[in-house]
Amino acid sequence: MSDQPPPYAEKGTAPPPNENTPISVGAPPTTVYVQPQAFVVQHFREVPLRMRCMFCQADVVTSTYFENGTLTWLACFLIFLFFPLGCCLIPFCMEPMKDVVHRCPNCNQQVGRFNRM
Ligand SMILES: [Zn+2]
Repeated sequence: MSDQPPPYAEKGTAPPPNENTPISVGAPPTTVYVQPQAFVVQHFREVPLRMRCMFCQADVVTSTYFENGTLTWLACFLIFLFFPLGCCLIPFCMEPMKDVVHRCPNCNQQVGRFNRM
C-alpha cells in the first residue's frame, strides 16, 4: 500500500559549505612582496644625493644639473603678462626657478629629478 517512494527528503545531499576548513596550523601564509629595486623612493632636492645607481648599481653621489621645468615656464608666462617684453626670459637664467636633474657620474644616466611644482 504505502510503497510510494519517499519524497525527496534529502534533496540537498551536498555537504554544507564548511568555512572552517582546517588548514595546517603553525605555518603562517607566506606572502612574498616583490619590490622592484629600481623604484626606491628617493627625495631629490637641489643638492647632490648619495644613492645606489639603478643602472650601474654603483654607490654614487649624484651630479646635479638645472633644467627648465614647469615653474620656469609658469614664471615666464606670468612675467610676460605683467612686465615689458624680454623680462619673461629672466626665469630661464635663475637656477631657483629650474628643476634639478640628478645624474649618475658613473654611467651618466638620469637617476632622479627634483620638480619644483
Ligand atoms: Zn650609474
